[in-house]
Amino acid sequence: MTDVFADLVGQDEAVAELRRAAAAAAAVLRAGATDRAPALIAAGPTGDEKSASAAGGMDPSAGMTHAWIFTGPPGSGRSVAARAFAAALQCVHGTGCGDCPGCHTTMGGTHADVRMVVPEGLSIGVGEMRALVLRAASTPSGGRWQVVIIEDADRLTEAAGNALLKAIEEPPPRTVFLLCAPSTHPDDISVTIRSRCRVVPLRQPPAAAVAEVLVRRDGIAPDVAQWAAAAAQGHVGRARRLARDPDARKRREAVLAVPRRLTGVGAAFDAASALIEAAEAEAEASVTEADTTERAALETALGAGGTGRGAAGAMRGAAGQLKELEKRQKSRATRAQRDALDRALVDLAGFYRDALTMALRAPVAPVHTDTAALAGAGAQKWDAEGSLRRLEAVLACRAAIEANVKPRIAVEAMMLALWKG
Ligand SMILES: [Zn+2]
Repeated sequence: MTDVFADLVGQDEAVAELRRAAAAAAAVLRAGATDRAPALIAAGPTGDEKSASAAGGMDPSAGMTHAWIFTGPPGSGRSVAARAFAAALQCVHGTGCGDCPGCHTTMGGTHADVRMVVPEGLSIGVGEMRALVLRAASTPSGGRWQVVIIEDADRLTEAAGNALLKAIEEPPPRTVFLLCAPSTHPDDISVTIRSRCRVVPLRQPPAAAVAEVLVRRDGIAPDVAQWAAAAAQGHVGRARRLARDPDARKRREAVLAVPRRLTGVGAAFDAASALIEAAEAEAEASVTEADTTERAALETALGAGGTGRGAAGAMRGAAGQLKELEKRQKSRATRAQRDALDRALVDLAGFYRDALTMALRAPVAPVHTDTAALAGAGAQKWDAEGSLRRLEAVLACRAAIEANVKPRIAVEAMMLALWKG
C-alpha cells in the first residue's frame, strides 16, 4: 500500500496542510508522554482564550486542532480526505505511511478508535449523534486519538447539530472531529459549529488528474479513463463507475438522449416519467439487497434474545426495533432515489453547458465528448441565450428538489422549459 493521501486527487494544498497537522499531532503525543498533559488548542473563541493563557515558547500542537471541516463539491474527495487524515493521525510513525497497522486498519475501516458516520437517510438524528459523542469521549484504546468522521454533516438535524456542537465546544483532550460538507454556507453547517472548526477546502479535481488515478489505481485503459473523467465532471467515484459499469453507461446514454426526444408537450411529460422511473429503478437495485440482509439479521438477533429476562419487554422492544429499521430503510430508499435523479440532472446540465460554451465559441473542452455533435447542433439552433435558459432550467430543477419540491413536479416543469426553450 502507498501513502494514505495517494488517492486524494488534485488536492496538493490540502494534503500539505493535513501532513503538517498530522506531524503536529504526533508531536503532541510525544510531548504528552513526558508531561502527561497533552491537549490541543481549540479553534474559535475558546481557543483564543486558551492559547492566550498557554505557556509561551514552543507549542507542539500549533499545527493541529480538534475539529475540522472538509468542504468541496460532491466527488471531490471529502470523505477520502477525512479518512486519509484519520489514518495519518493513527499512523505509528505519525506521517500516514500506509504500511503500519494504524494506517492499515483506518483505511480498511476497522480501527477501534475511528468511527465513521455515513447517513443512510435524509438526515442524521439526535439519538445517533448523542451515542457517538458519548463514545468519542472515551480514552483511545490505541493510545493515540479518538477520531469521529461525519460524512454529509450538512444532513445533521438541528438537535443533532446541537449535540455535536456541545462536544466540539468542550472537546475531550484526545478526540478529533472530522466533518464533511459541500460548503461552509449556513445552510450546510451552522455558524457556531463552523466557528469552532478549521476548514480544509477541496477543489473539483481536473479531468486529467481523475483520469490519471483511474489508470494508476484501477487499471483502466487510458482512453476510457479520459472519456469517463470528462463525463463525470470531476467526480472521482462517478468516473470510476462510468469506466467500469455498463449499466451506469446505459443510464447516462438514456439521460443524454432526452434533448433529442423533446418534440412536444406529450414527449416532455413522457421524458419526465422516464427520468423519474429510471431513478427509482436504479435506487431500488442499490438498496434491496441491503434491506433484506438487514431485516434477516435483526430478526435473527431478536429471536435469539427473546428468551430470558422480561419476555413482555423484549416483545415490545422487538416490534419497536423492526419499526425503527423499516423507517430507516424507507428514508435510505428516498435518499438513493434523490441521489440517482441528481446524477441524471448533472449529466443533463453538462449537455446544455456544452451547447452554451459552443454557442459562445469558448475555448473549453466539452463535458460529454460523445454528444458533442448534438450539443453543437443545439448551439446553432438555440444560440447562447437559449442554451443558457435551458441550462438554468436544469439547475432550477436540482434546486427545487433540494428544497423539497416533489421530484416529479420539478422534473415535469424542467422538461417543459427545455422543450419551450
Ligand atoms: Zn502508518
